[in-house]
Amino acid sequence: RPVPVDVVVIGAGAAGLMCAIEAGRRGRRVVVLDHARAPGEKIRISGGGRCNFTNRDAAPRNYLSANPGFAISALRRYTAQDFIARMDRRGIAWHEKTLGQLFCDGSARQVVDMLTDDLREAGGELRLSTAVTGIERTADGFTVATVNGTLASTSLVIACGGKSIPKMGATGFGYEVAERFGLALQPTRPGLVPLTLDPALLERLGPLAGVAVEARVSHGKGRNETRFEEGLLFTHRGLSGPAILQISSFWREGDEIALALAPGTDLFARLREARAAHGRQSPATALATLLPKRLAQLIAEREAGAVNLADLSDKALRRIDEAVNGWRLKPTGSEGYRTAEVTLGGVDTAGLDSRTLEARAVPGLYFVGEVVDVTGWLGGYNFQWAWSSGWVAGQVA
Ligand code: FAD
Repeated sequence: RPVPVDVVVIGAGAAGLMCAIEAGRRGRRVVVLDHARAPGEKIRISGGGRCNFTNRDAAPRNYLSANPGFAISALRRYTAQDFIARMDRRGIAWHEKTLGQLFCDGSARQVVDMLTDDLREAGGELRLSTAVTGIERTADGFTVATVNGTLASTSLVIACGGKSIPKMGATGFGYEVAERFGLALQPTRPGLVPLTLDPALLERLGPLAGVAVEARVSHGKGRNETRFEEGLLFTHRGLSGPAILQISSFWREGDEIALALAPGTDLFARLREARAAHGRQSPATALATLLPKRLAQLIAEREAGAVNLADLSDKALRRIDEAVNGWRLKPTGSEGYRTAEVTLGGVDTAGLDSRTLEARAVPGLYFVGEVVDVTGWLGGYNFQWAWSSGWVAGQVA
């Protein structure tokens, strides 16, 4: 016979734990199921082990979704400041790294411990290594069959995350449940992911593997242009670094991206000045005042050859400027779910109530966190969505 509870949450990640804590605090009997051996594994490895747990400035404009307005309600009701206050109450020290990104001073484990302690205090139960084998709808809720017995609940919360990093237990399970219950999906694809380059181009860029530079990376034109100015990293497979991860969520196969490797610098003017003042300097030396040395050398060799600045015409200087700040290229693909930080797309928000995350057509069924078609930029926005969406569902589930 199924064991009766009020709320079953599938997925003990950021969103599922937050939802379960809130429901438990309301006096609901909550069980959180996860097939993994440990809760919050993505929290633990996030932000290089320090968890970029939110962004001070998180706002709807920092999220991608087929319905850009969907996230407004949850983000307003449970804000970055609310989560910061929670961290402060717990005494977890944190700092701002850059661009509003908040990280733990110590270990991301502190965030996982806070959530599992809060869950215990709220009376919630965590069942790990528990795969779900079947979900049925009943007259007054759901039955959830697992490898360790069956539960009957009035509310069911799907918090299984996206497909990113299958090695860590990511599955498409949440999307399957959505489809089973007749909810539409927005096509899924890897986001916040390094981009790969054509082998011929990679060979030319070979010496740059490991070089990092502050760059402006953009995608699209005119009103549809999106740009980020952050670090860019050349790798053995292509391009990575925050600026590339950010733009990867907007990039589609076949699209070009534009790179400025010395953004905000009138390179042509700077090279002319250098030519006037130090005509015998090599272009590589002049460029190395603005760019990492290896990058400066590669561009100078390619665009100018072994000459002095004095030998270069204005036209030649403009060509160098173009190569540095007007570089357009077409990535061949991305590194895929293996390394992607998030999954774009997911449960179509049209089928969900934005105030509660409840499925409109299936009362008692909720989708929270990354499984929903709401994906944040890099920089703590994805955890904030997990906290906010989990929290609002936890007020009603
Ligand atoms: P998850 O945290 O992925 O949790 C889903 C849970 O569901 C998992 O515990 C999983 O085991 C479980 N599950 C899956 N399928 C099943 C199933 N069939 N049955 C039972 N359980 C199941 N975001 C930030 O904001 N800041 C960062 O610093 C950051 N760093 C990241 C670093 C890496 C390497 C990665 C991969 C992601 C990072 N992210 C970061 C993104 C962030 O981790 C996710 O957006 C966030 O964890 C989503 O929360 P969630 O609760 O929806 O899903």
